[in-house]
Amino acid sequence: MTTGGETRRSIVRGFDGIQYNQKRPGITLVCFGRIEHELRDELLHSLGSLLDSLEEFIPIRPVVSCFHEPDPLRIPAVNQEVSYFPLLEQIGGNIVLGVTNTGFFDPSKSRYIFSYGHVDGRAALSALRFRKECATRQLFLERMGKQILKTLAMACTLSSCADTGCIVSYHRWAKDLDRNQYVCEPCRQDLIRNLKFFLNVQPDKNSALIAEGD
Ligand SMILES: [Zn+2]
Repeated sequence: MTTGGETRRSIVRGFDGIQYNQKRPGITLVCFGRIEHELRDELLHSLGSLLDSLEEFIPIRPVVSCFHEPDPLRIPAVNQEVSYFPLLEQIGGNIVLGVTNTGFFDPSKSRYIFSYGHVDGRAALSALRFRKECATRQLFLERMGKQILKTLAMACTLSSCADTGCIVSYHRWAKDLDRNQYVCEPCRQDLIRNLKFFLNVQPDKNSALIAEGD
């Protein structure tokens, strides 16, 4: 194991968009396109709360940074997520999570997918179906707050959990997140182990995708 990964991963951008060296390991949230500050703050709060709950198990608390970025110029009509991962790859931070209003349509399933995770600590979340499937603003924010944790788990290569109360479980519809009240103990252990891995080493590159919401 090496500490901190390669140099590229130690360059992060703050809220002001300015790049700076970050010696502590980092989780970066990238808000693509028109992601409102209220949603951004909800996602950051959710990530922060999870890290608070894991604090005693992870030797160094990662820095969570966030910035806004335009959506990619060229987005295909289907499998739109493929346009986002090259951008997420270029962004500093041991773990990088993107959120966009662009839908990720999977033609093989004839529906939009909530999140995709790469096994290299990158994952992307589409807010599109949450905007359509949530009756109130509060529900939208609550469900997105949970889905960003599922997305983080996917970036950390966790597969869907069989415990339907667990946030890492499979979600077919946005409302399925309402039954999630916790991260179950086995997922918590997996998450701690894999967070430590991603926050401390440069993982092997692999392009395998994990899909959620299908
Ligand atoms: Zn679980």
